[in-house]
Amino acid sequence: MAIQVYNSLSRRKEEFVPLQGNRVSMFVCGLTPQDETHMGHAKTYVGFDVVARFLHHKGYHVFYLQNVTDIEDRIIDKMRSTGRGWKDIVNQYFGEYLEVMSALGCTSVDVYAFATDYIPEIVEQIQGLMEKGHAYLADDGSVYYDTTTFSGWGRLSGQKVEALRPGARVAVEERKRHPGDFVLWRAQKPGEPAWDSPWGKGRPGWHIEDTAITIRHFGPQYDLHGGATELLFPHHEAEIAQAEAYTGVTPFVKYWMHTGMVMVKGEEMHKSLGNFWPVKAALKLYEPEVIRFFLVNVQYRGPIDFTPDLLDEAKRSYERLRETVRSVDAERRRAPESGKGDRTLKAATTKALDDFDVAMSDDFNTREAVAVLFDYSRAVNKAIDSGAGRTALDEAMRAFGTFGEILGILAPPAVGADTIDRLLDLIVALREDARKRKDFAAADRIRDALGAVGVVLEDTRDGVRWKRR
Ligand SMILES: [Zn+2]
Repeated sequence: MAIQVYNSLSRRKEEFVPLQGNRVSMFVCGLTPQDETHMGHAKTYVGFDVVARFLHHKGYHVFYLQNVTDIEDRIIDKMRSTGRGWKDIVNQYFGEYLEVMSALGCTSVDVYAFATDYIPEIVEQIQGLMEKGHAYLADDGSVYYDTTTFSGWGRLSGQKVEALRPGARVAVEERKRHPGDFVLWRAQKPGEPAWDSPWGKGRPGWHIEDTAITIRHFGPQYDLHGGATELLFPHHEAEIAQAEAYTGVTPFVKYWMHTGMVMVKGEEMHKSLGNFWPVKAALKLYEPEVIRFFLVNVQYRGPIDFTPDLLDEAKRSYERLRETVRSVDAERRRAPESGKGDRTLKAATTKALDDFDVAMSDDFNTREAVAVLFDYSRAVNKAIDSGAGRTALDEAMRAFGTFGEILGILAPPAVGADTIDRLLDLIVALREDARKRKDFAAADRIRDALGAVGVVLEDTRDGVRWKRR
């Protein structure tokens, strides 16, 4: 089934057709590491992780690039308030971000691109924009984009240049020619980190890093750009203005996707409102899988209300789902080859796989997909009650595996290599005990059983040791 994506650019759902065969280049606005990763970040990045996972499941080769804004006003503010260096701040908060993302199962990013690693590309792009008359140098050595020179300005957000009167949204900077103009290169102020440029020392503006990074990796045009809704204007509008004016290629991005916000009791989550939820704090109260389940239980575009009550509810529902998967797994180990419930179970599995695909293909509607999982879970439990056979249960287990893989939940219980090694040590020790008791029949049985799974025993000076054949 073809995927339909809601494209913020056209404000409607469109069939997803990548620019080049089954290759998908995907970019999502990343973190400015200067504070704790909060639930708003988690919602956005879990959302796009699911997008990448589903595209991968549908056979696309996805290259997922995420930037890291490692120099920005807020980082400089943090330097001033703490006396720490910018790299030190970035390393700490980006490290925490990676930990949290990995706990939440966000595994699909291929490259994290740090803005300051792209200074030559940034400078080149700004020079190109100046040569084409889209950017101008101010007296202090900063460079601004002249938004009146770009006819496409406002296409994504529906904002008009005239709507940007002084004082509205953008603080008026004296050096700008028009209120909507934005900075491409900011001249160094005392004590600020800076890089060399043809206009003197300074640092890149926030918008230019994304287009420098994506043009280097993807060229002038790519498939999918994601980010939180609040980045749509002016950030994403500015990206379009930069890239399309610089390369002349339109559209710069084929599909623009935006995730809904995390609200707390109906209010926007914000540090200044005192309702700010760092993911680390949430992880102390809930398992990572429960948080992820809570986040995928809405469609990515929708807002989500983050309250402990709703998380508790999510925890209970998720536990029911997980219980079904556990009983399928236990049941299939002891069930006979076939049973009375097979026909209905097999039909339910086929239907669930289809319905799940329909839900996910409809603009990655994870909310509907989760509803499919619950319907399926009820059908599976009924089939188990009426007696399902091993083959049908194996199929059900595989279906849950597919659903879990795409949504990043329902991970099979982790039996790591390390657990297996410890169990083998224990088995060998028990066999030694049997030999000491002169129970050679038991000792031989253990040796043969180990041999059958490729583990051989050998006598060493330190006693009997096992090794894999
Ligand atoms: Zn961005």
